[in-house]
Amino acid sequence: MTPPAGKPLETQVREECMGIDPYECEEAIQRLNDFLDHQLTEPERAVVLKHLEICRPCLRRFTFEQTLIVSLRQKVTRVCAPQALRDKLHSLLRQG
Ligand SMILES: [Zn+2]
Repeated sequence: MTPPAGKPLETQVREECMGIDPYECEEAIQRLNDFLDHQLTEPERAVVLKHLEICRPCLRRFTFEQTLIVSLRQKVTRVCAPQALRDKLHSLLRQG
């Protein structure tokens, strides 16, 4: 099973990310998959996290993607998401 490659992500991003620079949102969204796969360098991860701190639509999308991917991974292997990241996201969500 491979995920569909040509998903119309751009359309969804434009609808969900408002109030923040749309270019930043597109960048952040495009990096989410790499982020979740631990493919980003530390500076790149910091950029994504910083955007998530100020952009709730992207944060919601991120947590959705993460939940989805984690639940998928739990079916095949033990999840190894960084606890610090999960704590951070939880605290961010509580602020809203
Ligand atoms: Zn955003």
